[in-house]
Amino acid sequence: MKRSKTPTFLVELPLQVNAQQAKHLRAHFEAARCLYNALLGEAMQRLKLMRADPRWQEARRLPRTQKQERAATFSQLREEYGFSEYAMHAFATQARTSWIADHVDSNTAQKLATRAFQAVLRVCFGQARQVRFKSRGRGLDSVEGKTNTSGIRFVLQTPDEGNAGWLVWQHDHLPALIDWNDPVVKHGLSQRIKYVRLVRRRASSSRAQGADCEGFRYCAQLVVEGLPYTKPKHRVGTGTLGLDLGPSTIAIVPQEGEARLLPFCAELKPKQQAKRRLQRKLDRQRRANNPQNYDQRGRVSKGRLAWKDSHGYEKTRRRLASQDRKLAAHRKSLHGRLVHEVVACGTTIMTEQLSYCAWQKQYGKSVGAHAPGMFLEHLRRTVARTGGSLHEVPTTTTKLSQYCHGCGQYKRKPLSQRWHQCTCGIGPVQRDLYAAFLSCSLDLRTLVPSIAQATWESAETRLRAAIEDVQARATAGEVLPQSFGMPRAGARLPRSRASDHQELRFRHDRVEAVAR
Ligand SMILES: [Zn+2]
Repeated sequence: MKRSKTPTFLVELPLQVNAQQAKHLRAHFEAARCLYNALLGEAMQRLKLMRADPRWQEARRLPRTQKQERAATFSQLREEYGFSEYAMHAFATQARTSWIADHVDSNTAQKLATRAFQAVLRVCFGQARQVRFKSRGRGLDSVEGKTNTSGIRFVLQTPDEGNAGWLVWQHDHLPALIDWNDPVVKHGLSQRIKYVRLVRRRASSSRAQGADCEGFRYCAQLVVEGLPYTKPKHRVGTGTLGLDLGPSTIAIVPQEGEARLLPFCAELKPKQQAKRRLQRKLDRQRRANNPQNYDQRGRVSKGRLAWKDSHGYEKTRRRLASQDRKLAAHRKSLHGRLVHEVVACGTTIMTEQLSYCAWQKQYGKSVGAHAPGMFLEHLRRTVARTGGSLHEVPTTTTKLSQYCHGCGQYKRKPLSQRWHQCTCGIGPVQRDLYAAFLSCSLDLRTLVPSIAQATWESAETRLRAAIEDVQARATAGEVLPQSFGMPRAGARLPRSRASDHQELRFRHDRVEAVAR
């Protein structure tokens, strides 16, 4: 019988690991990596054999209307070839022999088998083209137990025993750093622990705080039952709001209240610039170390090449990696803040379905930097927790960016046209704000916005206020994304104090450039 699922959240605690324990952990992770690769290979092999069976092709040729017959044939084949999670668990028990058994317990091995199976299942369903084997250099960075009673587990003392906690794996007891004054941690630790995950992360160097001699930090992720802590400052609004998410902008228009047009994660810019500088440094170092691998025009030569990495190069690479981690952590925190701002306006959210693949092709740099898909995923989780709903309506049927509610007509606009203005008298209104407004008044049955004249009049003033706010920010010198449709503030301000017009003059027997 399938067990009913309960809500789950994570509590992350840093671990204090001494040199001896770190050595053990590294060995455990290496053994887990080898086992994972073996399981992945086995699952791929089983999939290959199953697909080579003529009955597989026959089953695929069955029409989709014969649902039961199709499903029965596929499940028969899966059972025969041992392509299931439980068959993989059995294989994991078998494969966990000799030296690997000294490092990885059976529960952990089964969890690795589940992980490998799920990776291969994505290939089976056509969601992925291949699986990734973990190389020695990259390694495996997390292992988890199945329950909190055996294998990897977390032991927490009661308050009168001293309130300390340890992650226990085999003979090692790794003390966790617990900040009992943090209400988030305190709430998390008062729940039932389902199981524990041990995570290792690369620090900037081996001398970083809490890092072992190879520059790894360790932490325990407790998977606990219940709902995460909600800080008192995070209100939950009641109302309907429309969102329009762009690769670097977000427009929020509630049915009542203030509308906003915001750049997405604008605070990340200095970090991105620092990252870019490191990338350029890395490239210069790579070229200086391996001049033989480039042709005269500075392109990488073809064929198999041997690359030399200097110590300086490796140092820059580590710095870049740690810059990237900081960037990701900052982005996640900004996403969280924005999610709370949105949820404070309302929890019935309407937005258009996004096509991330298309976006990644067209706006790769911006999507990579701002991760709008991750933001939406975060929003969906938070909204579900607060009891609201997030409606994603398909763009192909609603076509909100082409719609005009005044005349009810759909008209395509080029992407460069950032303002909506129609001959029927609607507008001018900023395109993203208008799309968000339309989606907030969308009728979910007909997928056509239903807007009364009075609603539009009140909304128009709100949208205008949002634009005025943006204008004020642009005048103050903030650099805004081009998609806002505002003349860029950065372009209007002089770049430096020096005048562009210079003239040459003789002074004290030498030529000087003097500003006019
Ligand atoms: Zn119109």
